[in-house]
Amino acid sequence: LSTPATGGRQVLLAAPRGYCAGVDRAVVTVEKALDTYGAPVYVRKQIVHNRHVVEDLQARGAVFVEELDEVPPGSTVVFSAHGVSPAVHAQAAERDLKAIDATCPLVTKVHHEARRFAREGLEILLIGHAGHEEVEGTTGEAPDQITLVQSPADVAGVELKDPSRVAWLSQTTLSVDETLETVGRLREKFPQLMDPPSDDICYATSNRQLAIKQIAARSDLVIVVGSANSSNTVRLVDVALESGAKAAHRVDNAGEVDPAWFEGVASVGVTSGASVPDDLVQGVLELLVQHGYPVAQEERLTEESLVFALPPELRRDLRKGA
Ligand code: SF4
Repeated sequence: LSTPATGGRQVLLAAPRGYCAGVDRAVVTVEKALDTYGAPVYVRKQIVHNRHVVEDLQARGAVFVEELDEVPPGSTVVFSAHGVSPAVHAQAAERDLKAIDATCPLVTKVHHEARRFAREGLEILLIGHAGHEEVEGTTGEAPDQITLVQSPADVAGVELKDPSRVAWLSQTTLSVDETLETVGRLREKFPQLMDPPSDDICYATSNRQLAIKQIAARSDLVIVVGSANSSNTVRLVDVALESGAKAAHRVDNAGEVDPAWFEGVASVGVTSGASVPDDLVQGVLELLVQHGYPVAQEERLTEESLVFALPPELRRDLRKGA
């Protein structure tokens, strides 16, 4: 693939980028919940890790809380795309909350795997980042059997009760390459390590990493649009640098682009994380045009057509016209 240069300058726009099926479903869930039940609709944690999406929903009547004790009894609460532990479901029931679970089905799949391995009595090594909501939710499925492994370097310190009874799982939004390295080191140390039945790193994370790899080596600068707490966004910066980009920066929007970055730059790669609406990318592209970089030509790695149905509890009420 090649993009024609204009005056030696070019913009390489990665695709797929931006919204994935799980984010789209979660955002539409809050929108439909607001339409159906009226404001306020409470949302536990950021529905997706994007500041702009959260502020937009807030303006429409969503109230974001950290924990359920901030939600008045009897209210409607949506759980974020990152998933929650069984303890949170139980707390919602105790507080008589109407809970709508917008957990991405691909995160739910990892919860199922954790429960199954736990039932079989295995110890589970969960590759992921401490403090990330998805990791907290998955760990809550079997807290006594799950150990977090954050990086390849962590493997040396992992101790198991029975090294012959162990499996690994991962957060859905990690670097594919780093996770493979971590698993490789775990397998060297624990040869009987069992794999999950299918990849835990989701299609959207993998596709966005492959798409940026395709253009990184031809980019003097890569701009990744997305929020600082978005795991898959931050990984895109890492992957761009590891794949040959001379520089890579994350921005929430065009206003955060520093014109000093353009010094001596001919080729700019652009992508965005899975929770980023495309109008934010368009804003960056418009800014690039103002700085003399031509209209971007997209370099599409693959098409994505996955769509998830809305949570069943919401669909039921939509059918009833609640
Ligand atoms: Fe689901 Fe992957 Fe999107 Fe996360 S990034 S919401 S796991 S599709």
